Amino acid sequence: MKYVDEYRDGRIARTLGATIARTVRLDRDYRFMEFCGGHTHAISRYGIEDLLPANVRMIHGPGCPVCVLPIGRIDAAIRLSKRPEITLCTYGDVMRVPGSRETSLFKAKAAGADIRMVYSTLDAIRIAESEPSREVVFFAVGFETTTPPTALAIRLALRKKLTNFSVFCNHVLTPPAILAVLTSADMPEFGGVKVDGFIGPSHVSTVIGTEPFAPFAEAFEKPVVVAGFEPLDVMQAILLLVRQINDGRHEVENQYTRAVTRAGNCKAQAEMADIFELRESFEWRGLGLVPRSGLRLKEAYAACDAERRFNVQDVPGRDNPACECGAILRGVKNPIDCKLFGTICTPDAPMGSCMVSSEGACAAHWTYGRFRDLARRAS
Ligand code: SF4
Repeated sequence: MKYVDEYRDGRIARTLGATIARTVRLDRDYRFMEFCGGHTHAISRYGIEDLLPANVRMIHGPGCPVCVLPIGRIDAAIRLSKRPEITLCTYGDVMRVPGSRETSLFKAKAAGADIRMVYSTLDAIRIAESEPSREVVFFAVGFETTTPPTALAIRLALRKKLTNFSVFCNHVLTPPAILAVLTSADMPEFGGVKVDGFIGPSHVSTVIGTEPFAPFAEAFEKPVVVAGFEPLDVMQAILLLVRQINDGRHEVENQYTRAVTRAGNCKAQAEMADIFELRESFEWRGLGLVPRSGLRLKEAYAACDAERRFNVQDVPGRDNPACECGAILRGVKNPIDCKLFGTICTPDAPMGSCMVSSEGACAAHWTYGRFRDLARRAS
């Protein structure tokens, strides 16, 4: 596969691993958080940790958009879907996330709710157009990557004068979540985890650019390297982080120059800024309430806001008490620290959100990492 194989060359990956091993200082540890679920997936899938020296550790962060959705918002979507006039549309992974009391949108659909899996926001618009007697609600989740398509859908619905389309907005922002991780980093008693540097998200950065990470790098003296999803991207980003730390630097570097610029996609940013505004705070699974980290529709677009139209109330959800998703999303625990992992919680029957999407830490470890665990134990 031209333009892909070049970034998966095992020989170059081993050379990079050897360079990292030669570059690290032996008198210290390096703890890097990958913030993006795509990186978590790549690290597990390509066995990147096996190529790193023992004193370089990767920590999974809260970068999987499906995983960080709080259970109360899943419950709210399920309540919405049970209204007889509503057709709820969302992406496939979201439908499998467990809500309170072992419910999910899939189970609600099986019980008769009109819930439809879509591949894009345009699918939801088409449903609203073709079924004018239904109230079509798009259950919108995700970081800055999926926010512009939601904004465009709202713009399109208004242009087409669709009065039966609205959005239940759960879009969240990456920089405030990184700030929340950093703020609690040196407080293990409050669930914080020490991090020496970040692999910055790739898709998110194509939209927001690298600039928004500069204040964290500066204020907390933590380097950030924005990296692509391929294994060589990740290996190179780790080498750049190690070099920054050895040099006492804490800058934002861009490894993913083939897709990411300093300013990002200004047109997408303008579209988002026109339609959405910041919430004072938004709950993240694992991080709790994070100030100014979530978006809602501006008053001017109230007609398309499902929260206003259907008076959606925030009711706290009830997580499975045995599920460790919260600690895993903070980087404090690993999937195998959860006693449900691989027993009653698998990708076919997820008990927590981290086992749902392939970008979730538990699903990634179940699919790729557990075999390495077994091999390590056997050796
Ligand atoms: S294994 Fe399942 S129950 Fe345990 S933390 Fe992961 S998703 Fe939650």
